[in-house]
Amino acid sequence: MKGKFGRYGGQFVPEILMPAIEELIEGYERYKADQKFTKELNFYSREFAGRPTPLYHAKRLSEAYGAKIYLKREDLVHGGAHKLNNTLGQALLAKYMGKERIIAETGAGQHGTATAMAGAMLGIKIEVYMGSKDMERQRMNVYRMELLGAKVIPVESGSKTLKDAINEALRDWVSNVEDTYYLIGSIVGPHPYPEIVRDFQSVIGKETKEQILKCEKRLPDSIVACTGGGSNSIGIFYPFIEDDVKLFAIEAGGESLKKTDKVAYHSASLCQGEEGILHGARTKILQNEYGQILESHSIAAGLDYSGVGPELSHLSEIGRINSGNICDNDALEAFYELSRKKGIIPALESSHAVSYVLKHAKELGDLIVINLSGRGDKDVEIVARLNRGDKA
Ligand SMILES: *Cc1c(COP(=O)(O)O)cnc(C)c1O
Repeated sequence: MKGKFGRYGGQFVPEILMPAIEELIEGYERYKADQKFTKELNFYSREFAGRPTPLYHAKRLSEAYGAKIYLKREDLVHGGAHKLNNTLGQALLAKYMGKERIIAETGAGQHGTATAMAGAMLGIKIEVYMGSKDMERQRMNVYRMELLGAKVIPVESGSKTLKDAINEALRDWVSNVEDTYYLIGSIVGPHPYPEIVRDFQSVIGKETKEQILKCEKRLPDSIVACTGGGSNSIGIFYPFIEDDVKLFAIEAGGESLKKTDKVAYHSASLCQGEEGILHGARTKILQNEYGQILESHSIAAGLDYSGVGPELSHLSEIGRINSGNICDNDALEAFYELSRKKGIIPALESSHAVSYVLKHAKELGDLIVINLSGRGDKDVEIVARLNRGDKA
């Protein structure tokens, strides 16, 4: 069945949303094969986003850890992370579909900012739903979105964070399907979103494959990526799915892996989640015994999501990808290590992938690629605060 990844995925949405989803499926089918669309997207990817990004041999790191380690530099994409790959693609799709307004959800504000950038560049009105608690925690990103001409709408329901912002955006879409495009930020949500976002992010893996074949004349033994919803993971994994390459999706282990009824002190849906339905798809979710969604926690805001993309749930279940988790402190250590040894300040999200490699380099083979999903400038304040011993 279309839109299913084994048992996972699907379209668990109110009937009233189905016409909008059907229209999106049709629009995507039509334009993804359209030469003009592809050409225009390639142009913006190159000239606006700065692709292709380098695949960089981290020499001193390699020597220190006894394996040849490459970094795929998504931190160099305009905006500082892989997120623009997706927002550019979807915003352009919205334009081709004749939509005048784009809505999006955002947690820490990174996806909202990347959407605002794409919208400003293409001249489309952007409105971003954001939990009021997140707005307070991420004032700088709220200001950035506003600078880029977007309107930020506070969400006061539930935990006032990302999952509530997604619910609110879906509600808006239901009532404004005519002129509105809903631009989702990861490989989550009902079909066809997991597929659309994967396709736009696959540019990471396509480039990586070409680049590694060119400089090493072979494929890597392992590829490691951090995983929140899973878009940078699937983006680099997808072109290697049929190959003999080990794939590692690294989740946020938070402070510990303890689980209570109110909060999951981590964000490890693949490792610790159970099957359920979240935001229109069947997938692995952090939930309590009554099926209530647990609030996740991680030092890295971008990994702080209670679910994971249905395709990764499936790939994990059939054993094609491996999952692992890294706790806050270890991610922080990798953050310092890469900053000092490489002159690259990684995003705290990406630091989880780096940490996994530093801890397990011996088991990952001789040739390893880390997807460096973003840069860490946005995290400097958090790290400085932790250094002073304040609570994050
Ligand atoms: C948002 C974000 C992530 C997590 O999102 P995925 O969909 O799992 O990729 C990871 N790294 C960075 C830098 C991010 O901004």
